[in-house]
Amino acid sequence: MIIDTHAHLTDESLIDQVPQLLSDAAAVDVRGILVVATDVRTSQACIQLSERHRELRASVGIHPNYSCQANSGDWELIESLAKHERVVAVGETGLDRYWKDCAWEIQVEMFRKHIRLSRQVNLPLVIHTRDCSAEMLRFLQAESAGGSLRGVMHSFTGSPDVARGCIELGLYISFAGMVTYKNADDIREVASQIPDDRLLVETDCPYLTPHPFRGQRPNKPALVVHTLQTIAEVRQVSRELLAAQTTINAQRLFGAWR
Ligand SMILES: [Zn+2]
Repeated sequence: MIIDTHAHLTDESLIDQVPQLLSDAAAVDVRGILVVATDVRTSQACIQLSERHRELRASVGIHPNYSCQANSGDWELIESLAKHERVVAVGETGLDRYWKDCAWEIQVEMFRKHIRLSRQVNLPLVIHTRDCSAEMLRFLQAESAGGSLRGVMHSFTGSPDVARGCIELGLYISFAGMVTYKNADDIREVASQIPDDRLLVETDCPYLTPHPFRGQRPNKPALVVHTLQTIAEVRQVSRELLAAQTTINAQRLFGAWR
């Protein structure tokens, strides 16, 4: 069994084909999927979807690039949705210096709300980082003074040092399709070094379609097997062993799919 720990199945390019996507996924042993939210609307949609399909679980949260669009009352809604029985994670949250859609201070404030909620409801964080991985590590190190952090650095592309720092904080590291790209030797190098008990795989679909389908949209959960295959090769283990390890890790972190 394989678990795709980050899929935006409520995206308009995927939502209408969910039954087909799930049967394609099951055909290659992908039998657990975390459906990840980016705002209030998708948080509600992720929960609804996860209620309809037993292999799905949901996250609730507000993505840093939408943090400045949140209306008053949105955060309170996220807090109440986090108590739903199908919700196993808080996010995706984090920091993004690439898109510059929302002011840095607003992203930081919103990220801190997610960290507090994660501690309150005892659910792991799904953490997004773009073009600020060293800053992210310093931020997380400072936040860890207020209590331990649980969560995953999703679609990881940072340096070995940042990975090591996140692991020391107790976090998991998840790789998406980028690890399969021809020019991604640096990401593969990091993927080869993550401890067995902290590694996860994901698609981040509809984005980041893995090689050999790179460039095709939308990406889908079944294609996570290509990411798994590449990581198994660089770690010199069988795909079956890596599937077993990453599945146990996802079950432990999210407390689901057992
Ligand atoms: Zn995402």
